[in-house]
Amino acid sequence: MRKERELAPLQWGDPMNATLRVAIYARKSTATEGKSHSCEEQIERCLQDAKSFGFAEANIVVFEEPEGQKGDWYWDDGRGRHDGPCRPELSKLMRLVESGDIDVVMVYKADRFYRDNGVADALLKRFRELGVRLIAQGRDVEVHSARGLYQAAVDGAAARQWRDQISEDIRRDHRFKAERGMFSRNPSCLGFRSKGRGTQAVDPIPDELEIVRRVFGLFVHGENGEGPLGITAIANRFMDEGVRVAVSAKNHRVKHPDKVHTSQIRTILTNCMYAGRWRHLGREFETERLLVPGFDGELETVVPLALYEAAQRKLERSTVPGRKGLGLAHLLTSIAVCGECGRPLRTQQRKRGDGTVRLQFICSHLRGDRPCSRKGTRAIQVELVDSWVFEHLSPLLWAQLKQLESSTGRDGLLEKKTALERKLAEQRERESTELVRLSTVLDSVQLAGVATELREERIALEANLADVSRQIATPNQPDASELLDLRDLPLAKAKELIRRSLLWLAMTHRGVVAMTTWGTYCAAPFVEAPKGYKTQESKRRIAPVCPVASLGCASWFVNPDEFVRGQREYQPARMRNLADHEVVHTLWREAA
Ligand SMILES: [Zn+2]
Ligand SMILES: [Zn+2]
Repeated sequence: MRKERELAPLQWGDPMNATLRVAIYARKSTATEGKSHSCEEQIERCLQDAKSFGFAEANIVVFEEPEGQKGDWYWDDGRGRHDGPCRPELSKLMRLVESGDIDVVMVYKADRFYRDNGVADALLKRFRELGVRLIAQGRDVEVHSARGLYQAAVDGAAARQWRDQISEDIRRDHRFKAERGMFSRNPSCLGFRSKGRGTQAVDPIPDELEIVRRVFGLFVHGENGEGPLGITAIANRFMDEGVRVAVSAKNHRVKHPDKVHTSQIRTILTNCMYAGRWRHLGREFETERLLVPGFDGELETVVPLALYEAAQRKLERSTVPGRKGLGLAHLLTSIAVCGECGRPLRTQQRKRGDGTVRLQFICSHLRGDRPCSRKGTRAIQVELVDSWVFEHLSPLLWAQLKQLESSTGRDGLLEKKTALERKLAEQRERESTELVRLSTVLDSVQLAGVATELREERIALEANLADVSRQIATPNQPDASELLDLRDLPLAKAKELIRRSLLWLAMTHRGVVAMTTWGTYCAAPFVEAPKGYKTQESKRRIAPVCPVASLGCASWFVNPDEFVRGQREYQPARMRNLADHEVVHTLWREAA
């Protein structure tokens, strides 16, 4: 570590100041800070102060965060040392600070820079090490002196408490309102306009409500004897007819008023306001404020409830989780890949001789510059792969994970981590409340002592936690216990667990092969019924996972290089840190 420089506080009008390189930093997060100063105002004030100090205008750079950046977010130091979201402009600023191109950082108030003890510590530590000064509210914070540090700690703690308090208040207020059928945010949408902030009332717009009713009607029943339309068809028809559905919000101009986007149609269809309900944090609350007069003058919902519910059911059927275009929503869609080309399989309906329809996995990458010959893969019934996963694969995954957990003492580490996290949360809480409480009874020297002590305790805890987190290897693997009842879980959850357990699940021409995220093969050969054998069921079945097959299954890949290439193309993020032989083991033997 560099030796920290002792710096005398900057004085106003010191002629030497004209040589200093200055950065102004401004931030406004709109969510909770409606009444704080805008970025322009902050910058203007800083520029005034800069004049008083005698900084040269040519030496000043301004960093203005886009809206919504939070004061307890860190910066990206290029080495990923800080968790969580990063503030982009702060990251740029800190890069200049690190490279020694900045002498002074100016902010309107310290809470623009940090709203949390952790962030304050990290920032000021670098400032001290690099000899950079911080000016807030027109004066040098003197981060190089004990007094300045203490002030920064108290500011950070107070700001944090204020922020926690305010967001808690806002949350409670919103929930309170929603439960009473009141609006917890601006209710303007197609068909309704807010009568103004605080009025808790809307004006219905009859013309727009007609469009809303028509969207629901088209989606569920169709029009003029035609069948129901899909979302895209509705959007296209509206565009042809020149119907407009865009609503311009406050401070927001509609970019293409003549365009109708499918997302706009979807927004209309999922808006429960048309069914007389207000949605808050995923829950829906009935409210009379959204009822409109019907033909007989009585109040009713914009869209009849039965029609609304019918639309919701149709939407559920058409929502495909994960990638689009792979066929119907399914446990293994976007997980199952082709054993030849390594790209995802799609599901296809196949009509059988007896008239029944079965779904099967098949490789559809037959065109393009790298067509798949399908020689290294076989079509297989989706249902069979599903039950194989439930009956044979998941118990095996469970057993392997169980063994991994006990062999690495992962259970113990996880417990330790939870305990540390709890302690750290308590310590942070204590730090905020104690400092604020003591600031009224202790003098600044005593308080500085307490602040330092509390901070050191917290830093020790943070270091300890980081250490334990590192020891818990591959934290993304599921816990073994989660895999026990895979079959009973909701589809999305089961899918997520499989995705975290498997790097890929390939249909080769010899059988099914799964590669776990902890690097083991699980292979099961296909069992083919003899020629001429008549059956109602599929002729191709999957055997249980076989240890011998698992050892030799690398040879089931007709073109391992193509497979790896397809995988890298299909899931680049997961493949980035893997060598070829980690994707398919056979390539390791060739390389060795
Ligand atoms: Zn557009
Ligand atoms: Zn293929």
